[in-house]
Amino acid sequence: MAVVSGVLYVVATPIGNLGDFSPRAAQTLAEVDLVAAEDTRHSRHLFDHFNIKTPLISYHEHNEEKIATELLTRLKNGERIALISDAGTPMISDPGFTLVKQAREQGLRVVPIPGPSAVISALSVSGLPTDRFFFEGFLPAKSAARRRRLEQLLAYPHTLAFYETPHRISDTVQDLVQVLGGQRPAVLARELTKLHETVHAAPLEALPGWLAADANQQRGEFVVLVAGNPAPATLSQEDAWIERLLTALTREMPVKQAVAIAMEVTGRRKNELYRLGVAGREDE
Ligand code: SAM
Repeated sequence: MAVVSGVLYVVATPIGNLGDFSPRAAQTLAEVDLVAAEDTRHSRHLFDHFNIKTPLISYHEHNEEKIATELLTRLKNGERIALISDAGTPMISDPGFTLVKQAREQGLRVVPIPGPSAVISALSVSGLPTDRFFFEGFLPAKSAARRRRLEQLLAYPHTLAFYETPHRISDTVQDLVQVLGGQRPAVLARELTKLHETVHAAPLEALPGWLAADANQQRGEFVVLVAGNPAPATLSQEDAWIERLLTALTREMPVKQAVAIAMEVTGRRKNELYRLGVAGREDE
């Protein structure tokens, strides 16, 4: 594989275990002209380990706009640039959005060099359904806002995936129990691919006690997975709400448009929505 001029490579790096760094990722980082990294000091360790000499430039959430403009100019001049984050896949709860969006808008080629991501790694070993899932990333830091956000996710019927830091893991798990109830199957995936990797499955209500019982289990990086809402009672409450939404929307606009909006808001399929609220109404 030869890296090509004027191309932005979005390169995944390990989430802990350097053995997960792919040969293609290493080759790309070694061959490009410049690597944009979230924290250059952090990435220097990776570079030293793999003997990569490519210059690094810092690209993080506080200088995204400014550096993106500079990088886009350099790409247009034919330079080959790679984007990495501290760990895992850039853009997944990590910087990169401004640069990738603008590169694509400006007709530049953006090439993925895929590899580790904590959420996919956690899902793959969780034993929870993964045919569909909702990736929330980090919940709000403050409990009141966190609970409000969780209320919005309450009815979601598929697996929920959260990222969390060691400072907040206990509080977040308590809020999960408060808002989602204690019965749902959940998985705490901690320090994946590292020495203290732990994948602990339990009903949500058991997680606060499990964390409190061993301070070591509160250290490191976490993915929290929670099974979706299985409760027909809640789903039928949600159906009733959707029916009301559709009734209100169809008063104001054609059925087709109402259903399109309801699909966006509820995530339900077109057929379900027609069945729920608008079967037999005018423009259908
Ligand atoms: N871009 C990364 C990815 O693709 O997974 C995620 C970056 S985000 C800033 C960092 C968060 O990812 C951590 O707070 C933690 O929730 C999760 N994470 C990263 N590495 C992890 C690991 N080895 N084990 C468990 N969770 C991890």
